[in-house]
Amino acid sequence: AKALGRGKFMVFDEEMRAESMRLLDLEADLRRAINNESFEVVYQPVVAIDRATVVGHEALVRWIAPDGRRILPDRFIGMGEDSGLIQAVDWLVYKKVAARLANAGDTYVSINVSPQHFQSGDFVERLIAMMNDAGADLNRLRIEITESALMEDDGLAMEVLMKLRRSGIKTLLDDFGTGYSALSYLRRFPLYGIKVDRSFVSGMSADGDGSSEALVNAIVAMSHALDLECVAEGVETEYQAQRLVAAGCGYAQGFLYGRPGSLDP
Ligand code: C2E
Ligand code: CA
Ligand code: CA
Ligand code: CA
Repeated sequence: AKALGRGKFMVFDEEMRAESMRLLDLEADLRRAINNESFEVVYQPVVAIDRATVVGHEALVRWIAPDGRRILPDRFIGMGEDSGLIQAVDWLVYKKVAARLANAGDTYVSINVSPQHFQSGDFVERLIAMMNDAGADLNRLRIEITESALMEDDGLAMEVLMKLRRSGIKTLLDDFGTGYSALSYLRRFPLYGIKVDRSFVSGMSADGDGSSEALVNAIVAMSHALDLECVAEGVETEYQAQRLVAAGCGYAQGFLYGRPGSLDP
C-alpha cells in the first residue's frame, strides 16, 4: 500500500510539473507577445434596446498567435493577472482605444481593467494622460470594473473612482450579480451603471421557469432606484430582448446585435 501511495504521489508530482511548465510556457509566450505588440482589439456594439441604435462599443482584446490564430482572453487573462503581465496588455489595448476614440463619432468606448491593475499606483493619471495625448474625449470613455476591484482597498478604490468621475470617465460595474456584496457597493461608490451578467440573461427563455427573469426584473428595478444605467450582457434572442424591454432595461449587448468585430480606424 505504501508503494502504491508513493507511486501515486509521483504521478501527481509529474502532472504538477507538466502543468507548471505549460504555465511558464504561456507566460513566456505572453511576454513575447507584449514585446511584439501582438494584440488586436475587437469592438462589440452596445445598443439602446428599444430603438436598437448603437450607443457605444466594448473593447475586447485578442492575442494574435504566431500562426495568426486569435486567442481569447479567457485563456490568458488569469495568468496575466497572476504574473502581473495583464497591465502591459491593458495599456496596449488602451492605446488602440485612444486612437479610435480620437476619430470616432459620438458613440462611447468601454474598456476592461483587471482588479489589481485598477488598484495599482498611477492607473487613472496614466489613463487620462494617454487619452488626452491622443486627443480622445474623456466623456466618451467608460471603464468596466468587477466587484473585486472595489474589495481589496476600498479607500483607494473610492479615490480612483472619484478621480474618474471628475475627469468625465464613466465607471460601470461589470458582471453584476455574480459577486457577493454588490448591493452595498452600488450605494457607496460613485458608479455610472451596471452590466447585468450574461448568466442571468441566458436563463431567460420562453420555456424556462421564470426565475432568471425575476432576478433580471429585480436588478433592473434596483438600478433605476439608484439612478444607475443598466446594460444587459449576452443578449442572444428576440425573446430576451423583449423581456428586457418589458423590465425597463435601457441598453443591451450580445450576439443578437453584433459579435465582437474589428472596427479599428
Ligand atoms: P466581459 O467583460 O464580461 O466581456 C463580455 C464577454 O462576453 C466577451 O468575451 C464577449 O465576446 C462575450 N459575449 C458578448 N456577447 C455575447 C453573447 O451574446 N453570447 C455569448 N455567449 N458571449 C457573448 P471575451 O471577448 O472572450 O472576453 C472575456 C473576458 O475577458 C471579458 O469578459 C473581460 O473580463 C476580459 N477581457 C477582455 N478584454 C480585456 C482587456 O482588454 N483587459 C482586461 N483586463 N480584460 C479583458
Ligand atoms: Ca466587460
Ligand atoms: Ca461582463
Ligand atoms: Ca466576465
